Amino acid sequence: MQATQSGGCVCGKVRYSISGMPLRVTICHCTWCQRRTGTAFGVEVVFDKAQIKFESDAVSVYRHISDESGRWLDQHFCNTCGSNIGLTLEVVPNIHSISVGSLDDQDWAELDGLKRSHVYVRNVRQWSDVPDDVEQYERHFRK
Ligand SMILES: [Zn+2]
Ligand SMILES: [Zn+2]
Repeated sequence: MQATQSGGCVCGKVRYSISGMPLRVTICHCTWCQRRTGTAFGVEVVFDKAQIKFESDAVSVYRHISDESGRWLDQHFCNTCGSNIGLTLEVVPNIHSISVGSLDDQDWAELDGLKRSHVYVRNVRQWSDVPDDVEQYERHFRK
């Protein structure tokens, strides 16, 4: 498959390419995503692991164990500048999500038509508005 998209971190040491289309977009308001991103929510573009190719070994992984499920979540970040690159999760081993802000093309039209789910809306910050007409889940849509 030919690369359709590329992205990376702010310092340029992490670069990746993506083949094919994403599966969906997950916007997560959980307190863990608030901390790992340093802002109100994480926006993750979800791919099959095989679609993503890293072009250097500058990606480090921090493994977090969920205090709710007991399962691991791996947070991928640049080992030089610390930019968030994406996540892998024990619960969905074939999935690799990419933090939307790391994509080179911020106007990637394919993202517009994708299924978009807001999860962990129970943790939405008071000052962070979620529109009423979007798909939302109190916790995750997975059990
Ligand atoms: Zn970097
Ligand atoms: Zn989250």
